[in-house]
Amino acid sequence: MTEHARTTDVLIVGAGPTGLTLGIDLARRGVDALVLERAGELFPGSRGKGLQPRTLEVFDDLGVLPAIRAAGGTYPVGMVWQDGKRAGEHHMSEPAVPTEASPYEEPWMVAQWRTQRILHERLTELGGEVAFGSELTGLTQDEDGVTARLADGRTLRARYAVAADGGRSVVRRSLGIGMTGEDVDPQPCLVADARITGLDRDNWHIFPPRGDDSFLAICPLAGTDEFQVVARFPEDATVDTSLEGVRKVVAARSHLLPEDVTEVLWASDFRPRMALADRFRDGRVFLAGDAAHVHSPAGGQGLNTSVQDAYNLGWKLGAVLRGGADASLLATYEEERRPVAAHMLGVSTGVHRGEVRRGQATRQLGLGYRESSLSRETRPEPGPVHAGDRAPDARADGVRLFDAFRGPHWTLLTVGTDTGLPPLPLPTVRIGAHATYGTGVFLVRPDGYVGWAGTTAEGLAEYAEELRLA
Ligand SMILES: Cc1cc2nc3c(=O)[nH]c(=O)nc-3n(C[C@H](O)[C@H](O)[C@H](O)COP(=O)(O)OP(=O)(O)OC[C@H]3O[C@@H](n4cnc5c(N)ncnc54)[C@H](O)[C@@H]3O)c2cc1C
Repeated sequence: MTEHARTTDVLIVGAGPTGLTLGIDLARRGVDALVLERAGELFPGSRGKGLQPRTLEVFDDLGVLPAIRAAGGTYPVGMVWQDGKRAGEHHMSEPAVPTEASPYEEPWMVAQWRTQRILHERLTELGGEVAFGSELTGLTQDEDGVTARLADGRTLRARYAVAADGGRSVVRRSLGIGMTGEDVDPQPCLVADARITGLDRDNWHIFPPRGDDSFLAICPLAGTDEFQVVARFPEDATVDTSLEGVRKVVAARSHLLPEDVTEVLWASDFRPRMALADRFRDGRVFLAGDAAHVHSPAGGQGLNTSVQDAYNLGWKLGAVLRGGADASLLATYEEERRPVAAHMLGVSTGVHRGEVRRGQATRQLGLGYRESSLSRETRPEPGPVHAGDRAPDARADGVRLFDAFRGPHWTLLTVGTDTGLPPLPLPTVRIGAHATYGTGVFLVRPDGYVGWAGTTAEGLAEYAEELRLA
């Protein structure tokens, strides 16, 4: 028998936002998991800087929202510059006002490196672990588990593995799963985190192209003294990511001098692409985050969709590994997440091409799983919240629903009815009729979507039994 360097229940490959979020969700469920990370440290750049409202709700549930709030800020209003003068404001997004049902309506800007640090701290606090400097080079699976090979020759054994290893996923390639997609834009782009003098931090500074589509935008990164510089180049250009390269493009396209860029802390080049993995699962291995879908950065959806993948998969792995649920539950991960990823790819490509406005479409609050085999709507005439929908927040009778939902459990909610309930070992909340929900009995999943909905609890016990909640 082969000696493995370590065995674990879930091997998560990659400590980006996806791997860290999944690590947290599994750690709080008491699932033994290990996050492998090729690099010696967390990713240092700001790239996915926009946290959408739905992601803020997830972060609230995972216990990191106060830290995320403290690390960032709201998006500044765009300021268009022409010939060194302010030519007018540009609002990037439809305005949004927080409501009782959606308390975090506005996107929140946090540099990705800070989000990752906060997630990593939370993971560590919960007893989870990232093995830095551990590169996976290949993976095989059999009926009982997965064997991963590392670059240093060690092997690891796990019951399940999750590819959270980004757009160039080694895991996806070693499984032979294809990606279908296209370049969203043939023009290469530069993205850089820089310290810059001579620009205020109250606006997102936009320097429109002067004839050759050579766009430049400089955004103050909330919660830091840095700016994120994004520049687009002609199709055949080579992007220079050095300090000199960043100085050159900033000076050529704005009123700033080269020396106004005092420091470049991180820089990268990319060509906006959209692609979707042909499958999100192969046996005991799941693809999540950029390993499963890559987006144009324009709509700010890549990181957010990735976090939602991890949040969908975490409770299902926990239910199978710790809760005695049937392993068939895991099939609902691809069933639920692949259509959402396909939809969000359409949105981010649409934003990139100027066909979709940032706002309702990009906040991810309207996403849900009505068509999922896990969603059971038993009412002939459902109210405003159907089975499969996101369970909105509400305050009634001294209860805030998001407080009741917070944690790894399911929640049984009755609204405006005193109908009898089966004796399920779940937190139960009873509130009076409420405009957001209407009336009914709702079983809310650990990831905040309604699994089952009824006028009475008839059929609820059977649903709970299927999922081993009883
Ligand atoms: C230039 C750029 C700008 C972007 N801007 C935005 C934006 O504005 N908004 C937004 O929402 N998203 C944006 N994104 C996308 C966002 O950054 C990604 O969607 C997000 O990082 C995906 O998270 P992930 O954890 O799935 O993958 P990643 O963040 O790529 O993390 C994967 C991790 O896996 C590790 N890894 C890879 N291979 C191995 C291996 N073989 N063994 C062990 N570890 C491995 C990597 O080192 C890395 O740490 C941008 C992306 C880019 C490239």
